[in-house]
Amino acid sequence: MTKPSKKAQTKAKAPPPAKALVPVAASDDGIPLPDRSPIDFINLTTHTDQFGVDPIPISWGHPNPMTRGPVLCTIAHASQRNAIGAHQGSYCIYTGLAVAVGALNPDHMPNLKLTSPVFDIGPFPSWADPRKIASIDPFGHVVTDAYRAYLNKGYDIRPTIAVTKAHIDLPETREAMAAGRLKPDGKVLLETGQSIVSKCAIEPVWYLPEIARRFGCTEPMLRQSIFRMTNGMYPELITRPDIKLFLPPIGGVTIYIWGDPATIPDEDIPLTCRVHDECNGSDVFGSDICTCRPYVRSERSEAAREAAREAA
Ligand SMILES: [Zn+2]
Repeated sequence: MTKPSKKAQTKAKAPPPAKALVPVAASDDGIPLPDRSPIDFINLTTHTDQFGVDPIPISWGHPNPMTRGPVLCTIAHASQRNAIGAHQGSYCIYTGLAVAVGALNPDHMPNLKLTSPVFDIGPFPSWADPRKIASIDPFGHVVTDAYRAYLNKGYDIRPTIAVTKAHIDLPETREAMAAGRLKPDGKVLLETGQSIVSKCAIEPVWYLPEIARRFGCTEPMLRQSIFRMTNGMYPELITRPDIKLFLPPIGGVTIYIWGDPATIPDEDIPLTCRVHDECNGSDVFGSDICTCRPYVRSERSEAAREAAREAA
């Protein structure tokens, strides 16, 4: 067995760094000053006075984003966090790796000042109903507007939804155009065969009471089950029943919209929709091992056809 080096021994015996949280005080606008926890301090969420001591209140389903409260799940404000888990789903592990090797400053805060959706979505009445939305943050794409006061004060609040435009170029679309099955309308489907689409990339934000209700179990049952099945990865599920938001370590959802996103809530306008599971095998590599790509291909044709008809 290799003897640990003198340095390692010293390091192992070193006392934990003293906790030095910045005192939290309310200010004129009612927003408390951000607690900037020392970045090299290990916050054990099972210890009292270390996690969510004074969480920013969340009133899920409130139509006013400031009253609803920002989802605070970054490492910067340990005592004020109001959500369990971490941003980026399972990919937060890579952030940990990047910090460990010195490639990323753990104190880094992205500059979100120029980040805003390229088209408007909502607000819709469903945003004000905690039973309508339970697995995403409806204000997740507008944090720079809705929570500007928090950002200006130094809070590290991250968007959970990105809204942008994209071009999609697929050989099947050009084949369908050549065969006369699809006709370009110049707006949704171009003569070149490219589709101009709107894209929303969404990170899950679970409101645990409603998730439990939908699945017909109690909230404690849901929390205990996730705690046990993740081998205790999220102690706060058990220790902090007052914290209702959870950013689960699962993949997000991407929505591609052919046509005008503003017409989605209009029940008089037909909406072609396919829920598709991402698939490397056939979607990306064209393998015949499954039927994912043929299904999504026919859905894309239908969506482009319907959107072109609607735009005409
Ligand atoms: Zn597949």
